[in-house]
Amino acid sequence: MKKVVKFGGSSLASAEQFRKVGDIIHADAARRYVVPSAPGKRSSNDTKVTDMLYDCYAAAANGDDITEKIDAIKSRYQEIIDGLGLQLTLDEEFSVIRAKFEEGAGSEYAASRGEYLNGIVMAAFLGYEFIDAAEVIRFDENGTFDAETTNEQMSARLEAVERAVIPGFYGATADGTIRTFSRGGSDITGSIVARAVHADLYENWTDVSGFLVTDPHIVPNPETIETVTYRELRELSYMGANVMHADAIFPLRKEGIPINIKNTNRPEDPGTLIVESTCRQPKFTITGIAGKKGFCAINIEKAMMNTEIGFGRKVLQVFEENGISFEHVPSGIDTFTVIVHQTEFMEKEQRVISGLHRAVQPDTLDLESGLALIAVVGRGMRAQRGTAGRIFSALSHAHINVKMIDQGSSELNIIIGVRNEDFEAAVKAIYDIFVLTHL
Ligand code: ADP
Ligand code: ASP
Ligand code: MG
Repeated sequence: MKKVVKFGGSSLASAEQFRKVGDIIHADAARRYVVPSAPGKRSSNDTKVTDMLYDCYAAAANGDDITEKIDAIKSRYQEIIDGLGLQLTLDEEFSVIRAKFEEGAGSEYAASRGEYLNGIVMAAFLGYEFIDAAEVIRFDENGTFDAETTNEQMSARLEAVERAVIPGFYGATADGTIRTFSRGGSDITGSIVARAVHADLYENWTDVSGFLVTDPHIVPNPETIETVTYRELRELSYMGANVMHADAIFPLRKEGIPINIKNTNRPEDPGTLIVESTCRQPKFTITGIAGKKGFCAINIEKAMMNTEIGFGRKVLQVFEENGISFEHVPSGIDTFTVIVHQTEFMEKEQRVISGLHRAVQPDTLDLESGLALIAVVGRGMRAQRGTAGRIFSALSHAHINVKMIDQGSSELNIIIGVRNEDFEAAVKAIYDIFVLTHL
């Protein structure tokens, strides 16, 4: 048995948390490859080391004196080192980091130091070899992750290594420039390592007992999902269930390696198993609900647009030319709607509007901002009739106006658009109807 274990920021926020992690690793000899995140929040009003690093780098780039900010970051690590009684000093590392910040090494370099330093601490604590992710995880010059070169380098490097610590979140280009994944990216590093060593299981340890049916900030103590497929996970993570990075399944999909989400504070809980496919039926009709606020709908109306060949392409081309990606395009006979991220769209709004007038001469064109999208996801929905109807009736009982509904062709998800201010109430209403009343 070979397991890769990734620990998130809250699992490594203090010496006490490190001890729990040590106990978990020592409890199972198969836990051979460890991927740590940077220290996270010790309490709800604390700051993650990653955020402290971004902030410190911004100050350095501004020409400010960063002594205090660097000291604050250093003390986060010193507290852990002292609490664990380790004979380790990071003085030299910090003088390099400070010099690099001052010479403008880039915000990705800055952010990556959180994981890099925590990897050094973790390796010293466990007595495992430390392998710098910059050596084994490759990005191309544009900052795009290079999966195949990485897999070759990582497999070769780990082949004869029995146990190692590989920090999460970053890698480097061929010339050694440090690049990072997007936020939450240590989950991806764990997957990359699991693929490279042909692991039997990838354990992702965090501060909740698995993938929950919905965000615990919206519904208190939601049910835990026992088993979820890669595809369901992707839909849910992409739409805001940030317990797992949406891109973390790609390296694993190639080998069908399962992921087990586990709670560092409650290691006895079974957590959630994420698998390629399963014949296990989900407990409820739906597997999960996730969502995000901050979308804008561009509604285009034109009589007989459905007979106009190339209409959709011309509309989408305007968005493409302005560098805007779209989320959904629900359409009717004479209407075509494009849903985009509001922040991305706002600054280019007028250019897009005039571009659309020129491209397709619409009868009317209007914008609706302040929308939230909710994804109701579940492999079980395919076998059930009337899921969309049940969602509608739950929302109308809660006096929520549905702005848009879009069912994915996979029948795996239904996307619902509501006003931002109705978002939480809508998620609760959908949770209640499918989970509490168990329909
Ligand atoms: P880590 O630091 O371990 O990577 P994250 O903060 O990235 O942890 O992810 C865990 C958090 O994700 C949980 O504490 C929870 O608040 C949040 N979360 C949002 N949606 C969900 C969900 N559907 N299931 C579980 N956790 C969720
Ligand atoms: N530390 C990084 C972040 O805060 C990566 C991670 O936690 O996965 O986004
Ligand atoms: Mg995370």
